Amino acid sequence: MAIRITDDCINCEACEPECPNNAIYAPEESWKFSDGTTMSDDKEHEAVSDEFFYIATDKCTECRGFNEEPACAAVCPVDCCISDDDNIETEDELMEKKERLHA
Ligand code: SF4
Repeated sequence: MAIRITDDCINCEACEPECPNNAIYAPEESWKFSDGTTMSDDKEHEAVSDEFFYIATDKCTECRGFNEEPACAAVCPVDCCISDDDNIETEDELMEKKERLHA
């Protein structure tokens, strides 16, 4: 499943540079598949949060293929990067997503 950032976030920005998929965005910042990936899709998608850093679910692979653990959760000082129970994916689905993002 993807990771999500809860409203305990203190907007410290620690997680943002750690994401191998560039899936983490600042509040109010629109997101694109092409940011930090090999995908050419540069359509802008509306920000998911206007208050806290957020994770673009379609770009989060739970760090599969890059790290043993979700990198964002590992550095978050307030432990607000948690499993997103509304977006559950299998290992295969996560790896397929990773391959799509970094073909
Ligand atoms: Fe990015 Fe990994 Fe966090 Fe997902 S779990 S948002 S891929 S750092």
